Amino acid sequence: MNELHNLRVGQGYDVHRLVEGRKLILGGVEIESPVGLLGHSDADALLHAITDAILGACGQGDIGRHFSDSDPIYEGADSAVLLQKTLALTQSLGFTLINVDSTVICQSPKLSPVMAQMHQRLAEICNLPMGQVNIKAKTNEKLGYLGRQEAIEAQAVVLMVKGK
Ligand code: MG
Repeated sequence: MNELHNLRVGQGYDVHRLVEGRKLILGGVEIESPVGLLGHSDADALLHAITDAILGACGQGDIGRHFSDSDPIYEGADSAVLLQKTLALTQSLGFTLINVDSTVICQSPKLSPVMAQMHQRLAEICNLPMGQVNIKAKTNEKLGYLGRQEAIEAQAVVLMVKGK
């Protein structure tokens, strides 16, 4: 056994439908848009994918197990708070987050104008240096439901270490 055996990788995925009358919140940042993501919480697909990746790395199931989307307490919930609660839980189990890499698939609006703000906010939420947090933005080349701007998808991987 060496310290490499204490490294754990986690993967997360999320998708939310785009609808009128909702704010668009991604990576904890409100983005100007005529449509927003539909969901029980603030529907921040990027933070949900990262939360699932963290839970996955620690063998703790998924976001729905910890924050049920039928529980009124989480209606309109700030997903940044849910991610931070997840980090507190995994820290209590002896895990430390090392880095986050993520991809947002969003045909519209363009994320480049808000990318620096999202990056900074995500590093803050994860309590990591900015060099250990990454967000990549892709369109879906106008293909499928993502390309038709019916939804936004996010994917994430994290690396965590157990014990010190
Ligand atoms: Mg979600």
